[in-house]
Amino acid sequence: MLIRHVRPWGGERSDVVLAGDRIAAIRPHDPAAQPSGEVVEGRGRLLLPSFSDVHVHLDSTRIGLPFRPHTGGPGVWTMTMNDRENWRSAEVPLVERVAGTLERMIARGTTRVRSYAQVDVDCKLEKFEAVVAAKEKFAGQAEVQIMTFPQAGILREKGTAEYLEASLKAGADVMGGIDPCTLDRDPKGHLDVVFALAEKYQVEVDIHLHEPGELGVFSTDLILDRTRALGMQGKVTMSHAYELGSVSESVSRRIIDEFAELDIAMATVAPSARGQLSLVDLTEAGVRVGLGEDGQRDYWSPYGNCDMLDRTWQLAFTNNFRRDELIEMSLAVATMGGASIMSHDVARLAGVGDRPGLAVGDRADLLLVDGETPSSAVMDRGTDRTVLHDGVVVADRLALVRG
Ligand SMILES: [Zn+2]
Repeated sequence: MLIRHVRPWGGERSDVVLAGDRIAAIRPHDPAAQPSGEVVEGRGRLLLPSFSDVHVHLDSTRIGLPFRPHTGGPGVWTMTMNDRENWRSAEVPLVERVAGTLERMIARGTTRVRSYAQVDVDCKLEKFEAVVAAKEKFAGQAEVQIMTFPQAGILREKGTAEYLEASLKAGADVMGGIDPCTLDRDPKGHLDVVFALAEKYQVEVDIHLHEPGELGVFSTDLILDRTRALGMQGKVTMSHAYELGSVSESVSRRIIDEFAELDIAMATVAPSARGQLSLVDLTEAGVRVGLGEDGQRDYWSPYGNCDMLDRTWQLAFTNNFRRDELIEMSLAVATMGGASIMSHDVARLAGVGDRPGLAVGDRADLLLVDGETPSSAVMDRGTDRTVLHDGVVVADRLALVRG
């Protein structure tokens, strides 16, 4: 396949040759060339790696349903109960909602997804199975990893750990944990279950951490200890963790250095919170950082529209980035940063100036989008998009291409 006349990362006008699911050659654009095989017309658009959403709750989505006034209260437990009261009475069955949301994400340029699937004594495996069904439905259009996620804690309600284990037996890719101190109020008990199940089923760990300041650092230190003791380097991700930079300069530095040393990744959803670890410092230290959209217009929040280009704008905006180099770094995080969390064969970003994903030999998961430069594409968020997954065109102009 030939992708004719594109500008990789905004650079020179090029023709890109694909062989199977890989980039085989990148040549200066030749307007006179008469290719024989399949051709994708780039029309001078930007060529970027496709997006990787490494923190999305596909199972709680209300995308495509009538807009609903927000009824959640403060705190994780109150919000969990608000979701529990309402999710079953949505206008459309869960399986359709989840599939429709994933479809919309792919259509907008996301081909790598790490989705949460809430498992507890209320929903049991119903949400997990809906995410599995969507993953299978779009197996040819996107790579999806599923995290079994104790949204309601593990120790608060008897039987939760057994349902979590059942989801791992059924093929969950990642073991989730959440706020070991503030939700279960038993950090050792919580993390013992999380790491034991991860070890038993040989899966990675992803901890959803909303805890504030010193408490968040305390929980993080417990996770660092376990990662080191169990030899789980490269197998742990911290999600949110948006106050780890709030304690002191030296604590921030220590955490970033330990994350780099133990290859602990960070997944952010670009919150407006103060006290975050510096995205520039994390990237310069070689910590894998990925971006996600979190809930999609659900019972938790009215935000989220399945468009990672929008969320990349939010990442740049909440970091107060203005320089092109930093806005482009946000794109690198949203694309290959996340890819490097989902697959450790993908290199960590080498620093602020690294623009990976478009070299010969790289996986042909690609996005063509209109825009003058990568930064202007983040500001304008054009709709003239073409999406490829494993060398196959899967979406064009925000709609799926049915193969
Ligand atoms: Zn989340």
